[in-house]
Amino acid sequence: MSNIIRSIKGTHDILPEDSKKWQQLESTIRKITHQFGYEEIRTPIFEKTGLFSRSVGEDTDIVSKEMYSWEDRDNTSLTLRPELTAPVVRSFIQHNLGGLSPLQRLFYIGPLFRRERPQKGRQRQFHQYGIEAFGSPHPEQDAEVISLAYSLLTQLGLTNLNLKLNSIGSPECRAQYRNALQDYLRPFLNELSETSQKRFENNPLRILDTKVPHEIDIIKNAPNITDFLTHEDQAHFNSVQSFLNQLNIPFTCDPTMVRGLDYYTRTTFEITSSALGAQDALLGGGRYDKLVETLGGKATPAIGFAAGMERILLALEAETPFESYDSTDIYMVCLDESVLSVSIDLANQLRQAGKSVKMETLRRSMKAQMREANRSGATYAFILGENEIQNKTVVIKKLKEGNQETVLQTEILEKLK
Ligand code: AMP
Repeated sequence: MSNIIRSIKGTHDILPEDSKKWQQLESTIRKITHQFGYEEIRTPIFEKTGLFSRSVGEDTDIVSKEMYSWEDRDNTSLTLRPELTAPVVRSFIQHNLGGLSPLQRLFYIGPLFRRERPQKGRQRQFHQYGIEAFGSPHPEQDAEVISLAYSLLTQLGLTNLNLKLNSIGSPECRAQYRNALQDYLRPFLNELSETSQKRFENNPLRILDTKVPHEIDIIKNAPNITDFLTHEDQAHFNSVQSFLNQLNIPFTCDPTMVRGLDYYTRTTFEITSSALGAQDALLGGGRYDKLVETLGGKATPAIGFAAGMERILLALEAETPFESYDSTDIYMVCLDESVLSVSIDLANQLRQAGKSVKMETLRRSMKAQMREANRSGATYAFILGENEIQNKTVVIKKLKEGNQETVLQTEILEKLK
């Protein structure tokens, strides 16, 4: 086994037993997203590198060290998408979706790529489900987006949820806050990590995202961004909170939560699960009123979130055991080579009538085939031997109940109704 080719570190195969869980998750996602009126968008897996450096920001971890980028043959720099908001905004601008309707509610599901250090809940290829609502600057839009996120997680059966909410205001008040934060941090500069020292000049707000314990202590007494909000920012934030209260969605305000990406404005939020370990963030999002403009489109307010699908599945496993299902209707047991031709015909007819049929193709003993039929989770075994061929019948056995009857082949479909 030593020279077999294995999957790349930080990437995972989703095997049939697991893909059932994915299908159930995706179907709940699609159902709830539809209830809120969002429509699916699918964008390419790779984009021009500049799309991410211009939107996510040069001094974020994602852009500075985690992107899978390469030079194409014509020297264009391309990148496997590390997030999906920028591609969706690119597509929104390119196809003038804002011109088609003043409000666009979009969602996506797909794989992303970040060269992070793999650990439980953190992969190099992972999947996100996310939504983006373009067009409305109003707080009811923020409440809708957060409420969709919360409804999805609770309807999936998750209970150990913590919703953290903050407002990082508009760019004007952020400039003031940035100065105040720098003034506060300056005396501690020598104690900060190299990364934080770099961020001090370029983007001091990102120091608030630190995971370094003694830096967390330092920022405990830092000024709060919420004290710098303009009157309008504060009114917006208050309305979002009162809509969430009205919807009975519990939340806590966390003024240190500024989120990692450069493009956020006003509302930011994150939902974590206390059923998870170190990587406990299920989803994060926020308002990004300036991004469409930054990427060359017409100024359009927008808000969205991205949820890690692997993380949701891990949280579900920790909270509620998964109930496996199998939707095979019929297992065709063939007792002799001479029955194959009739079996193939019957299976074909049954599939055309909408049934799902697994047919024995290993020519095993009857005992082995019956064992397989039981294991397959099928509702019925159809047993065909020489007798049945002669009499144009089939033995239909209900696998769970154990009872069986002989039915004319021409009457099978009627019987199954
Ligand atoms: P972000 O795009 O960084 O805001 O992440 C949004 C969500 O995606 C997080 O809350 C996680 O649930 C998930 N996520 C982010 N990075 C990873 C990763 N490397 N592996 C698995 N899930 C991730």
